[in-house]
Amino acid sequence: MKRSLVIVSVAFMLVLSVFAAKKKLIHVIDTSKCVQCGKCIEACPAKAIKAIKKDGKIVHEIDPSKCIKCGLCIENCEFGAIKIIEQTEENIKEKKKTEDEDKGKNDKEQNAQ
Ligand code: SF4
Ligand code: SF4
Repeated sequence: MKRSLVIVSVAFMLVLSVFAAKKKLIHVIDTSKCVQCGKCIEACPAKAIKAIKKDGKIVHEIDPSKCIKCGLCIENCEFGAIKIIEQTEENIKEKKKTEDEDKGKNDKEQNAQ
């Protein structure tokens, strides 16, 4: 009886660790806290952070495909504007939607010029 309990517990832990490994954590910048000081760009060894123009404003963004998750941006941000979140289907879709809207606005602005 004891042995089967141990086997079940180990199997449960294995399943949990597989789920944890599938979670993808990403670094993101909270634009409401960011003051555009640029210190995170200077600190990033992977050149994963860039300042881009959005709705006529400059915002800082992290490219998760370049980020090596070293944490130096968080250490160097004095304003607590960088956090680690779990990347989910929902926030991937939300980001894509925002990017598409921005692209549409930029195209309109360029056509108007
Ligand atoms: S260090 Fe922080 S406040 Fe400065 S640009 Fe980066 S995220 Fe924004
Ligand atoms: S965690 Fe490291 S690699 Fe990723 S954005 Fe921050 S400084 Fe750059």
